[in-house]
Amino acid sequence: MLTIRQLSCKSLLNKSTLGDFTLNCYVGCTPKCLYCYARYMKKFKERPEEWGDFVDVKINACEVLRKQLERIKPPKEVFMSSVGDGWQPLEARYKLSRACLKLLLEAGFEVSILTKSSLIQRDFDVLTRFKTVCLGMTITTLDKELQKVLEPYASTVQERLDTLKKAQDKRIKTWVFLGPLIPEFTDTYSNLEAIFKAIKGLNLDSIYIDRLNLRWQVLEALRKSLSKQDYLKWRLLFYKCINPQRYAEYSQQLRKK
Ligand code: SF4
Repeated sequence: MLTIRQLSCKSLLNKSTLGDFTLNCYVGCTPKCLYCYARYMKKFKERPEEWGDFVDVKINACEVLRKQLERIKPPKEVFMSSVGDGWQPLEARYKLSRACLKLLLEAGFEVSILTKSSLIQRDFDVLTRFKTVCLGMTITTLDKELQKVLEPYASTVQERLDTLKKAQDKRIKTWVFLGPLIPEFTDTYSNLEAIFKAIKGLNLDSIYIDRLNLRWQVLEALRKSLSKQDYLKWRLLFYKCINPQRYAEYSQQLRKK
């Protein structure tokens, strides 16, 4: 069951290495991806629910952002979002990411969006008005069965590819986050080939590729949710990841791949 908390925040733009700032209207995320590194927020916020079963809604987001924009001046790059998909299903009701995106772009900021949700199509009217925004979609695997396990409540990969295509038709700049490359699951040649084939015709600004962001909670989430036949692969993943030296060697091989 989903627990929604409507909370007031003090600050919305937070300094980050992902651009100059990150902006999150929501903490928590219902797509519930198994590999989600943001699940550390559950402990940080002391939420008793499982990751994916709670969302904190920053109900005063626009008001706080407006005040911050009086002090912070562009050009600055803002990444939306880092601890919850800004266009997860609840955004259809609250429209906070849309409103904040508009405020940022109208104030002259550069915005990089990363989402797995085709709900972003609702906001194409905003995206088409500005050259300083780039829409990114995460593509993890073309394997439908595996995608259902890894990202159970996100838009399908086909919906994401269609969204990118539609964005390009409207001359919106686009990029792809290819990852995370999970050892034994999504780092295979066949998976990578399938993805590159699928995105070949797209005129992307950039492709960003990354490994699995290793956290104990992520390994645990994968272990608990994978089927028995995938358990052997999980053990290989665990073997590669748990020892820092072995993970460094694996990472080097992955880079070559
Ligand atoms: S969509 Fe992103 S933030 Fe949400 S659960 Fe998946 S990986 Fe985490």
